[in-house]
Amino acid sequence: MKVENLPQLTQFIVDEQSHIIINKDVCQSCDQHPCVRACPANCYTFDEATQRLSVVYETCLECGTCHVICDKGAVDWSYPRGGYGVCCRLT
Ligand code: SF4
Ligand code: SF4
Repeated sequence: MKVENLPQLTQFIVDEQSHIIINKDVCQSCDQHPCVRACPANCYTFDEATQRLSVVYETCLECGTCHVICDKGAVDWSYPRGGYGVCCRLT
């Protein structure tokens, strides 16, 4: 199984409230945006024109990588509330 195939093998029960909160003001001083490259679900995008980071929490695989890799403390991450989030189905 390849990581890039995970979205096709995964279902999500989406909460109306995000479990990922980003301090986007901090992101404007971030040079490399490692969260964009590190997220296996491509939840992060950085718009060079506006210098703004966007995150899509609905397809988060809950690996926690973005929380660890952001060395500026800009990512406030928690697991989704009970009953919500990722549901893997490996068939
Ligand atoms: S690594 Fe942290 S500071 Fe940099 S763009 Fe991502 S969330 Fe923002
Ligand atoms: S927890 Fe993992 S899958 Fe979810 S946004 Fe962060 S890096 Fe991406």
